[in-house]
Amino acid sequence: MSGCGDCGTTRAKVVLPHGRLCRGCRLRRHHHPRPCPGCGTVRPLAYRTPDTTDIADGADVCATCAGAVSVFACTGCGSEDHPYGYTRCARCYLTELVTSLLTDPATGRLHPRLIPLHQALSTGRRPQTTYWWLTRPGQVAQDVLSGLASGRLPISHDTFRERLPIDRRHGYLRDLLVSAGILTPYAPAIERIDPWLAAILAAQPAPHADVLNRFARWHVLRQLRAHDRAGTLTSAVVNMGRAHINAAVRLLDWTHARDTTTIDALTQADLEDYLLAHPGARYSARAFLLWLGTSRTNTALTLPRRRQQLPEVTMTDRARWASVELLLHETTIASQSRVAGLFLLLFAQPLNKITQMTRHQIHHAEGRVTVTFDTVPVELPPGVAAVVLDHMNGHGSASYRLGETPWLFPGRLPGRPIATETVRKILVHHGIHPRASRSAALYALAGQIPAPVLADLLGITRNNATQWAQLAARDWSNYVANRPSRRG
Ligand SMILES: [Zn+2]
Ligand SMILES: [Zn+2]
Ligand SMILES: [Zn+2]
Repeated sequence: MSGCGDCGTTRAKVVLPHGRLCRGCRLRRHHHPRPCPGCGTVRPLAYRTPDTTDIADGADVCATCAGAVSVFACTGCGSEDHPYGYTRCARCYLTELVTSLLTDPATGRLHPRLIPLHQALSTGRRPQTTYWWLTRPGQVAQDVLSGLASGRLPISHDTFRERLPIDRRHGYLRDLLVSAGILTPYAPAIERIDPWLAAILAAQPAPHADVLNRFARWHVLRQLRAHDRAGTLTSAVVNMGRAHINAAVRLLDWTHARDTTTIDALTQADLEDYLLAHPGARYSARAFLLWLGTSRTNTALTLPRRRQQLPEVTMTDRARWASVELLLHETTIASQSRVAGLFLLLFAQPLNKITQMTRHQIHHAEGRVTVTFDTVPVELPPGVAAVVLDHMNGHGSASYRLGETPWLFPGRLPGRPIATETVRKILVHHGIHPRASRSAALYALAGQIPAPVLADLLGITRNNATQWAQLAARDWSNYVANRPSRRG
């Protein structure tokens, strides 16, 4: 018989030891691998074993169990995985494409600096997805990558800053180069300040533009870069930086409108007029006013003192536990937000620290799950442990990423953890406000745990822990005296 063993069509060109398949039925079997009854491996099955004694009669097995050469094997690499074209697998197509894109036409070899990218792209876990990303219409990746390989585009951040459009698709490529170690890490949120600042400076008269430029570059941007290096650059920090610049602009505009003065000649009386008319500036313009003094731009100004802020608790313990219950059981919330929210509500961890956590901070052995926020591991209660393990076992993982990620909360961009803002928005949507939740958690914990222990568990300073302990109306000073000092 020459018809397809599956559908009966006469155009059955695929020859198997015991019969034939049509092309469509071969592809269907290739795309639906099943556990082989002979060896248990998940593979495309279309063969019969010569020995039918321990396998149900007529059941299909894999090529190896039948002692045959697989008709599903890629003609390029011999693998049955990642079916894509008729004769070759997705990985072979992808490797061929990436090799041609990253080859320098002048030498006929891979561009030496792009070899790590070639490696990362061609060995990723999902070659189909990467191939699709490179070839679907409207993508810029092929053009940029071949430009980098041929030298038409220099391999540098400047290329992405100055020669290519600043948008999501180009930003993604730039992140890939960073994640492959070809470009050094950078902070997109800081870079976006540059064009924004240039527009503001253009609208200022020359002497004020100069002052503002120095304040922005030497004070604001420098602070943002320090945050970036420390891993604490959140959107709140960036917005605060922009707010400092905006507040400076308002004061400069007001000064300029008086027509007689420039900022370096502003008097204390002028400043008090301004603060009377703009009470908010007492806080918003504070950074700029302080900088005017330290940069010796204007040393004649003194700032009214700011009142010391005491910790404040606005969330009841009952509300805190209600939020914990919600996150423990509400499976419609993304697992990363559930885990992050639980760490916030139970262990008073700041959200920007939570999103930077790595998988190594979670330890699972002998039925116990511990998390180490600072130096001392904390055992998780069973309900919380279950949510954390479920999250780590793949739920909530990014749809496409390069290789394995060290992050506990991998982000959408390659090589980066999730943006704090993403998690914050989801929690706030469910009525969980990070600042209030963290204060409520610190308050509750400080009432139960001695300050020095709390400091080691949560990674806060001892002073801070003692303040909270005082607030929780406990005096642990005796305990401190009796406890052997660990941190001096
Ligand atoms: Zn068929
Ligand atoms: Zn088998
Ligand atoms: Zn292949």
